[in-house]
Amino acid sequence: MEKWPLGVFASIDAGLGVHLEVVKELGVPTIHLHAPSKASRTPEKASEFTAKLKKMGITISVVFGGFEGESYADIPTTAKTVGLVPPETRAARTAEMKEIADFARLLGVDIVALHVGFVPHDTSHQLYKDAVAVTQEICDHCKGNNQRLHLETGQESPEGLLQFHGDVDRDNLFINFDPANMILYGSGEPIEALKKVGKYVRSVHCKDATWADKPGEEWGAEVPLGEGDVGFENFLSTLKEIGYDGPLTIEREIPQEPARQKEEIGRGVKLLTELRAKIL
Ligand code: MG
Repeated sequence: MEKWPLGVFASIDAGLGVHLEVVKELGVPTIHLHAPSKASRTPEKASEFTAKLKKMGITISVVFGGFEGESYADIPTTAKTVGLVPPETRAARTAEMKEIADFARLLGVDIVALHVGFVPHDTSHQLYKDAVAVTQEICDHCKGNNQRLHLETGQESPEGLLQFHGDVDRDNLFINFDPANMILYGSGEPIEALKKVGKYVRSVHCKDATWADKPGEEWGAEVPLGEGDVGFENFLSTLKEIGYDGPLTIEREIPQEPARQKEEIGRGVKLLTELRAKIL
């Protein structure tokens, strides 16, 4: 595969991201697929879907897990509802994440990813220990499938993420770096963070955002690629510096406005294509 192929976050019947028809229209060759609903996670659907993608000329690089009941409405809601950290939903979601990994294997995809949730900063906190244990459990399941697990960045500072990565201590655990999330959650300057965690970054989201007035307390704002505070020329130069050569996967979450979403992703494709030609 060429270096830095373009990608887009996509979904079939559930989850975030654009539909496949939009991916095709945009002429983007790779996707991060948000896991489809349970009803679609069957061997029959997997073959059907693989055939469809092949015909469209689209490759899945990562399958993302997501769960019912997750809400990114604001920072406290995200902490309470997202990922494997919340105790009430942990067992069911852990089982579901393993099913999602198995479905990814049926699709021939060797990377699964997720937002693990808000990991407490205090490493002696029970929730921290639980988060380490559940991530080990998912990693070990993925290992049995010859898969890697990528943690979505955003909630943790780069130091916190490195600490967590070290404590989980699994050789198939890597990072999906989302620079916009660092800004949205107020967890650190994204380029500096990328340099710090770079050796574990094996996939990225090209998403942009502007800082909140009170970072870490209020959400920043997600904006079209190139219009926020990430600085994509710098971001791509840093990806080159750390030796990253995987897909550049655009994520733009405004599913309520599909026409605008498609137009903005189209502009993102153009921007990344220009920057890639300049930097690579
Ligand atoms: Mg992301």
